[in-house]
Amino acid sequence: MLPISMGKKITAARGDRLRCKGWRQEAILRMLENNLENAEVPDELIIYGGTGKAARDWDCYDVIVKTLKELENDETLVIQSGKPVGVFRTWETSPRVVMANSNLVPHWSNWTKFYELEKQGLMMYGQMTAGSWCYIGTQGIIQGTYETFSSLAKKHYDSDLGGKIVLTGGMGGMGGAQPLAVKMAGGVCIDVDCDEKRIDRRVNIGFCDQKLFDVKETIALAENAKENKTAISIGLVGNCADVFPLLVKQGFKPDVVTDQTSAHDELNGYVPVGYYGDSLKDALTLRKNDPAEYIKRSMKSMMLHCKAMIEFQKNGSIVFDYGNNLRGQALKAGLKNAFDYPGFVPAYVRPMLCVGRGPFRWLSLSGDPEDIKRTDDLVIKLFPKDAILSNWITLAERYIPWEGLPARVCWLAYGDRMIFALAINDLVRKKEIGPIAITRDHLDSGSVASPYRETESMRDNSDAVADWPLLNALLNCAAGADSVQIHNGGGVGIGLSTHAGMVVVCDGTKATDERIKRVFTTDPGIGVIRHADAGYSEAIEVIHRSDLRDPMIP
Ligand code: NAD
Repeated sequence: MLPISMGKKITAARGDRLRCKGWRQEAILRMLENNLENAEVPDELIIYGGTGKAARDWDCYDVIVKTLKELENDETLVIQSGKPVGVFRTWETSPRVVMANSNLVPHWSNWTKFYELEKQGLMMYGQMTAGSWCYIGTQGIIQGTYETFSSLAKKHYDSDLGGKIVLTGGMGGMGGAQPLAVKMAGGVCIDVDCDEKRIDRRVNIGFCDQKLFDVKETIALAENAKENKTAISIGLVGNCADVFPLLVKQGFKPDVVTDQTSAHDELNGYVPVGYYGDSLKDALTLRKNDPAEYIKRSMKSMMLHCKAMIEFQKNGSIVFDYGNNLRGQALKAGLKNAFDYPGFVPAYVRPMLCVGRGPFRWLSLSGDPEDIKRTDDLVIKLFPKDAILSNWITLAERYIPWEGLPARVCWLAYGDRMIFALAINDLVRKKEIGPIAITRDHLDSGSVASPYRETESMRDNSDAVADWPLLNALLNCAAGADSVQIHNGGGVGIGLSTHAGMVVVCDGTKATDERIKRVFTTDPGIGVIRHADAGYSEAIEVIHRSDLRDPMIP
């Protein structure tokens, strides 16, 4: 018999009717459904980021749904790489769900072993928020992307991106935020994707202005917009490994170059040179029939792609890696100077992570956009001096379409996260808004070790120390988060990162106030301590002026 949900269009439940024994379980179920509502390839349970999945298979999905509906208020459901494997009696204050996705014993932690186990049905790739049921669509990454481009513009131009051209690749779940983020920062974006449908999707929901097929036409339009300082975004159907080297050869000089193709996965993510548009189906046939040949071509293409980015840099463009391990893959393929350009975290984001500032996200579980608008007003009122925040909320309300359950993301620092979460729970208690789930990206202050990304070039060389995200997850369990997850390989690929996620459900109760006070101390707090431990003075200052305690720091 076929699994019940297979082949069905899954959407998140809305309204105030509970299907579970409490809002904490119901919220987690709605977030799982919301992942699928926003998925890149829902039929295969693929949410985003190459093959980042929400459940091992449709049988597992059905059992997860059933178990969440039956789960008592003092029980914890255990998920092992997308498969429900146990229910334990714990405490009312314990997480309702704990998960471990894609983790392998370090010596075997690579794609080859992973694919072998995946083929045997023993594992699933969880990416970051896919396997942890915290994905909120492309909007989830947009503020991070906007902040990164704005910080770049401030650093290099002491302005916004007005009159600048950004050339990039990839318009998938994460990469699809780039065209809108560049436009919001005033710039011109050319985003190259080999899959026309991905571009259509972003154009249809308002993340990208238009789709073009012709390189010459694209460049002419972009240069004209640059001259007139008009902010526009173009999705160009093409393969980066073809288009980037071609543009170098033609002497085109974009102001900024980066990339968010799914380069972390040479088999199921990146598409080799020569395949785009109509010929994409031939790449998929090659992938299926001759995976070894596909990988060979994919690795060579990533070398060409990365080499072109280095050439752009030599010609004066600002070039940075956007967290997909393109440099690591190119190095593996033989390009010795692949790391000639920096990663986005050391270049633009680390100062924020030092003070525990990170991607705080919240979803309206009732599905009412008015609830999010009410919380938008609240966050601006609570932090009137935070100019970046109020500018962001204004832009978000103007530009960002709703995807699935209405949600918002805004970067908040240590201390502010707890104040805001308590204020949200208070609004829920007063019934001014419906229940809200608070979550975050795994890309955060203390929740990730990823030497080619978030922990690249740490001051004390602790890039590869993976204790911190594990401690983050342990602490969040101890503090009573509603769902806690530990993953391997998000962003950059299997074996290259360890990271953790969490969810807290605001149901308006006093017990949730207590959970919030603890989790929004432990979660960003361990991030501040992680950076203080590495010697960053901004983090040490936060410890000195807050209630955080690090026994090694006087
Ligand atoms: P995705 O799989 O949803 O989309 C990838 C896109 O790249 C697809 O649209 C695909 O058609 C395109 N593509 C693949 N090869 C190409 C090529 N040679 N030329 C042109 N287009 C090509 O992935 P995503 O969710 O958008 O993530 C993109 C990358 O960013 C992944 O490697 C992911 O691991 C990483 N990532 C980044 C962040 C971040 O914060 N920057 C966060 C999570 C993941």
